[in-house]
Amino acid sequence: MINRYRILKKIPEKEIRQQVKKIAQNIANEYQNQEPVLIGVLNGVFIFLSDLVREISIPLKIDFVRLASYGSKNVSSGKITLTKDIELSIKGKPVIIVEDIIDTGLTLSYLVRHVKGREPESVKICTLINKLERREKEIGIDYWGFEIKEGFVVGYGLDYNEKFRYLPYILSLEIKD
Ligand code: 5GP
Repeated sequence: MINRYRILKKIPEKEIRQQVKKIAQNIANEYQNQEPVLIGVLNGVFIFLSDLVREISIPLKIDFVRLASYGSKNVSSGKITLTKDIELSIKGKPVIIVEDIIDTGLTLSYLVRHVKGREPESVKICTLINKLERREKEIGIDYWGFEIKEGFVVGYGLDYNEKFRYLPYILSLEIKD
């Protein structure tokens, strides 16, 4: 199938670096002497998380989860399963869930419930991109890099059918199938 794209917005590398640094400083200030566990949501978060942790100036731990959501190709259906679970013990620990993008909020609300079941001391949410257009579940987001109103976001780890993940910048695309 041939797709055509129109670029609605570009977020250049410099702006991404500034926002990542800002989030990292806020996390470092708020978690002094606490060694938080950052749980990254694969696959899209891999570039953001690796840049973020290298800017956080306090000790922390890192783990990953992976979720599958079944639905039409660009929208999550809410039928979510966990395909890779947390491996570190998070009981009694401060946890920060790190997402690439929050859209409807369905994936994250499932994950928050799952994480809370492990009895962490606290759970905060960090996302590179907060997409407001299609939010269905109200979620308190503690740290975010960018708010994007329209389009399908790719680059800096985020893909469209496995394309564009490698781009060092972020694009918001209108996709014409
Ligand atoms: P939600 O459950 O919040 O609707 O969707 C969360 C997941 O859907 C994200 O972690 C991401 O994998 C995917 N997703 C939602 N919107 C976008 C988007 O604009 N671009 C990309 N690449 N993935 C998206």
